[in-house]
Amino acid sequence: MSRRGEARFVVDSMLGRLAKWLRLLGYDTLYSKNYEDWQLLKIAEKTGRILVTRDRGLYWRARKRGLNAVLIETDDVATRLAELYVKAGISLDANPERSRCPHCNSELVVVREKSLVKDRVPPESLRAFDKFYLCPRCGKVYWEGSHWRNIRMVVDDAKERAEMVRSALERRSRGRSKPS
Ligand SMILES: [Zn+2]
Repeated sequence: MSRRGEARFVVDSMLGRLAKWLRLLGYDTLYSKNYEDWQLLKIAEKTGRILVTRDRGLYWRARKRGLNAVLIETDDVATRLAELYVKAGISLDANPERSRCPHCNSELVVVREKSLVKDRVPPESLRAFDKFYLCPRCGKVYWEGSHWRNIRMVVDDAKERAEMVRSALERRSRGRSKPS
């Protein structure tokens, strides 16, 4: 059961970095650089996951089959997250307690006992932090180091861009429905 409880995603092979961001934000996200289009469609169909793609053709194939899909139309990560916020309703708050392992998508376990992670954390970080996040699947250990400042900056940036993305989409849909 996902801690977010809500949206789950499957992400196309071109969007590996975005898949990691979704996991950081706590969303259950499947990704493989080897997924073929037919596999992505099958996964979305079988699991009810939202297909995230930057391939317009694949997006429309998914929509024709009645699947949930989001077409990513921008390039930088903050704007892409803003797109996912507007188009799929993801929540833009970065909290390591809710994160999933960016590498393997598992839910992380909070570890406060330093001896349990001492072999996998550099001594200075072991001294500086009291809380670590262990991936039970791949064994990676995370902590709220300086990279979390960057993560929060990008997420704040995404929040600021959300209105811009929303109004661009609205303008476009108004343009489309205008009588010619
Ligand atoms: Zn992992």
